[in-house]
Amino acid sequence: METPTPRPAPVDSGERSAAQPVVCYPPDQLPILDWISIAAARAGQKRVAEVVVPPREARVFEVKAGQFFRIVSIEGSQVGDLNLHHALDLTERFFSGKTRALHGTHLTTGDRLWSTFPHLRPLATITDDTLDWYGYDADGGGVHDVIGTRCDPYTHRLLGGGQYHNCCHSNLTRALAAYSGTSEREVEHLVHDVLNVFMCTGFSLDLHQYFMKASPARPGDHLEFLADVDLLGVLSACPGGDCSEEHSSDVAVCHPLLVEIFDGPPPLGWLPAEASDYVWPA
Ligand SMILES: [Zn+2]
Repeated sequence: METPTPRPAPVDSGERSAAQPVVCYPPDQLPILDWISIAAARAGQKRVAEVVVPPREARVFEVKAGQFFRIVSIEGSQVGDLNLHHALDLTERFFSGKTRALHGTHLTTGDRLWSTFPHLRPLATITDDTLDWYGYDADGGGVHDVIGTRCDPYTHRLLGGGQYHNCCHSNLTRALAAYSGTSEREVEHLVHDVLNVFMCTGFSLDLHQYFMKASPARPGDHLEFLADVDLLGVLSACPGGDCSEEHSSDVAVCHPLLVEIFDGPPPLGWLPAEASDYVWPA
């Protein structure tokens, strides 16, 4: 049987599709950031720790509320898949979908990484992005997306691939298991949709299909965050390398990523983010 074809458009189809779009979540209704205090605090904090994430692997890092941290491109263009958890409750995790709805498909300076229900608070705020010049290209592509999920062995298998064990999902799971002193099976459900750091992606202009293209990141580029709560971060150096060709194999040239953690006084007047005070009716 052939694929069903769409129906012919009704006579008033033009009228129906001419309705004006409305931004679902006006960004000017979000809490305002104090950039003067953020810049002053950043200038005063010193680097206290670093974690190198080897190619096709993931590593865990801890950041205290009020500390800054950076993900840095070193040695060569490389995409990183980032998971963030509240350090005291790993089930409170980065909520890619709501973050996308609030800030758009790709993140940059000033955007925040929001956590899952029932918390819905910023886990981290992006305070610097050396790729902020990129914007959106002629293909509709942008950098640091929250539209992809993470490369994973299940989808790879679904699409006819073999058994590949170093997808970002696998790497994130393995690193979290090692940190927790438990098995991959016990922590796999905590792994979640990522922020695709340095990845260049979009939806094709014709069919709106998810695409990737070579990352514009170069050694020295970084994405910097202020931790809004105590964080456990997990970062995978994607087996896709710069994600110019494929992402679930050992074919692509891959490079390490560097995580730098800074410490010092937090921004003046800044407080750790509080969970939503929404209350269910009695
Ligand atoms: Zn990946």
